[in-house]
Amino acid sequence: MSGVEVGSVYVHAPFCARRCFYCDFAVTVDREPDPEPWLRAIERELQALEAEGLVRLAPRLETLYVGGGTPSLLRPEAMEELGRLLTGGPGSGDRLSMPGLEWTAEANPESLTPSVAAGWRRAGVNRVSLGTQSFQEPVLRWMGRLHGPHGTAAAVAVARDAGFETYSVDLIFGLPAAVERDWSADLDAALALEPPHVSLYGLTADTGTPLGRAVGEGRIRMVEEARYDEEYLEAAERLAAEGYEHYEVSNFARPGHRSRHNQAYWSGVPYLGLGNGAHSFVPPRRRWNVREWADYARLTGGPSLPVDESETVEGASRRLEDAWLGLRCDRGLPVRWSREGSAGHLVATWEESGWAEVRAGRLTLTPRGWLLLDRLAIELHEALERESRRG
Ligand code: SF4
Repeated sequence: MSGVEVGSVYVHAPFCARRCFYCDFAVTVDREPDPEPWLRAIERELQALEAEGLVRLAPRLETLYVGGGTPSLLRPEAMEELGRLLTGGPGSGDRLSMPGLEWTAEANPESLTPSVAAGWRRAGVNRVSLGTQSFQEPVLRWMGRLHGPHGTAAAVAVARDAGFETYSVDLIFGLPAAVERDWSADLDAALALEPPHVSLYGLTADTGTPLGRAVGEGRIRMVEEARYDEEYLEAAERLAAEGYEHYEVSNFARPGHRSRHNQAYWSGVPYLGLGNGAHSFVPPRRRWNVREWADYARLTGGPSLPVDESETVEGASRRLEDAWLGLRCDRGLPVRWSREGSAGHLVATWEESGWAEVRAGRLTLTPRGWLLLDRLAIELHEALERESRRG
């Protein structure tokens, strides 16, 4: 059999009932999306990938992640139908076998109904990621979310009743001061639900979103950097005190509940992305599909793959990416430099500033360091490149 074997697959479900004020994802607005055209397009992409021969699905997948968009908007049977597509072909019936597989689906609180949750369980989904963002009515309205302040608690109850042992509550921090969000109260509300996993996202004002335009026109002022940092550090401290492992810059888990899918992205192994806007990585090539659902649906009807662009990640850019991926996780980087060289001196200044720690031969960033992740990864990479040029 030809092609690189991939054990981690992302599938993009692009439909949302409404577009949130800040959202820059590859989303198409549809209140009651018909999953049929979506499933057929995914099926055709899978067939085109098989014909291309560059990648092939592992006989047993490690992780499957259905994100969006809002996968919970699709009818309950859609996930089983997706499972059938992925297990098509001779000898592939074990591809979604349990308990080895982590199968996550993203849900918005208002659409995770008991029948959707039951359909997902029947399909084999064993992890839910809930788009909570906040528990405060005015904040949710400002964001354009469709659930109310009690929506997440209701969705958690639905998930638990359906038998989900692992679910994530996702929150957005760093909102403009004018929104008057009480971040500590949102952390209280999240912790009261005792979720096994919490993800945090800092708000960004991407151009092309209504938020980005409002910021560009001076109608909204983004949060001050100091306030942004304070909220992140408060969350990191409180979640750690409650026994969560801060295992990646934005992710916290109770022991045994880390997202294996995201860890696959951060460890640099090959993965496959299906659907519009989805990214795939088969070292050293990364490529991504066309962003718009309508373009994706049209292109998958033709002879070629719906790929938009690709890049080669090798040499210095691969080394920079490896440094960035290692530093963003709690595994950190192995210390392969001398304390006397420029990298050693640089890391010593980070330790003095409280941004990093070196323990048992590994460099890891602290939450304060994670606030500076991009800058620190570039600085370390440049120091290491200088050292290697000097031999
Ligand atoms: S629900 Fe999520 S994907 Fe959909 S518009 Fe809102 S932020 Fe974007």
